[in-house]
Amino acid sequence: MEGAVLSKPWLAFSLASLCLGAAVSDRARSLHQKALVFDAHIHAIEREFYHGGDIGERKPDGQFDLPRAREGGVGAMFFSFYVTEDYYPGRFETKQALRLIDACIRQIRDNSSTIEIAHNATEIERIHEAGRIAAVLDIEGSFDLDGDLGVMRNFYRLGLRSMQLSAHNWQSNYADSCCAPAQWHGLNDRGRAWIREANRLGMVINVSHASDDAISQAIDLSTDPVIATHHGLREFNDIPRNMPDWLLKKLASKGGVIGFQIGNEFHNRKLFEWRTQNAGKPFWDTNSIANRKTPLTIFDIDQIAGRQFPMAGYNVPEELKFSVADWVAVVDRAIQLVGEDHVALGTDFDGGPTLPKDMRDVRDLPMITDAMLQRGYSEERIRKFLGGNILRVFRQITGKGR
Ligand SMILES: [Zn+2]
Repeated sequence: MEGAVLSKPWLAFSLASLCLGAAVSDRARSLHQKALVFDAHIHAIEREFYHGGDIGERKPDGQFDLPRAREGGVGAMFFSFYVTEDYYPGRFETKQALRLIDACIRQIRDNSSTIEIAHNATEIERIHEAGRIAAVLDIEGSFDLDGDLGVMRNFYRLGLRSMQLSAHNWQSNYADSCCAPAQWHGLNDRGRAWIREANRLGMVINVSHASDDAISQAIDLSTDPVIATHHGLREFNDIPRNMPDWLLKKLASKGGVIGFQIGNEFHNRKLFEWRTQNAGKPFWDTNSIANRKTPLTIFDIDQIAGRQFPMAGYNVPEELKFSVADWVAVVDRAIQLVGEDHVALGTDFDGGPTLPKDMRDVRDLPMITDAMLQRGYSEERIRKFLGGNILRVFRQITGKGR
């Protein structure tokens, strides 16, 4: 334990502050500290984009900032930025994506002692070994509703290494979303061209939010494994946003990985029903945007879209929440279905999850390691889940000397 702490001096402070959090065994802390913790989906920039501030500053609320990520032992992350559906009716999606990329690049540059953009697995390992956080630029939502490949290539040149196949919960002109009326029964020709170009570039194809047909066709067509960065199992909560067992088996059979979202809404049916009833609509509903009549300027839209960030979960009765051990049971089911090489962490911090009992924010990621040890998992299996599996597939997709 001693030696390890010295090798990562910045962690000395955080172990002390971890004591203030949920009860986690020393063995879990030590394993968590030594492992590469690679979170496949964190909303890292919207708060600062809409409300100002610095990702390097510790915030009193929300679920993520760099100081707390360090305390949670995060070594690498998909630095996800969300182009919300608000921008789609006016076709501002590409401009909004460029604005968010600019904000990501500047904030990461201004925090270079803590975080650096990574373009492949080798860079992730170098940055992690240097005691900093490796950030993979990852777009959530639409970069262009037409799926223009020239725009995609420019995003790749700007440093993006992961793109969402669907336009989040909205219909695009090339791929169906999980949560909008299907138009293409999966992918159309533009969608297939999008898959091929992503393969040629070495871009992660993130199938979270896509429809079952679109995911299935993407797996068939892609020459690389695909990743569902933040997802759940339909077996636990029968919603279109979650994955059925047959599709998970198909994804794994082509070397893919599923990242598990940390929120109750995905996996805890009782809480999902309570929230849906209480909110009057399911969490993926975008009808209020589709029904907007008045044309808005992008600045009007910023005012509206910005209100929801950071998205730190829903106010629900504590007794409805499940525990981290319950959440690990969902991951365990996936391991039973497809084995330990195809599961990963994709928390969606500050993207709306209502966290398990006693989990404050990203600082409490070691609770997962602790719960997995208590479940009798081997250290090797836990390391694979925490980051080894995502790193393996990311290397496969972005490597190969492209
Ligand atoms: Zn999402």
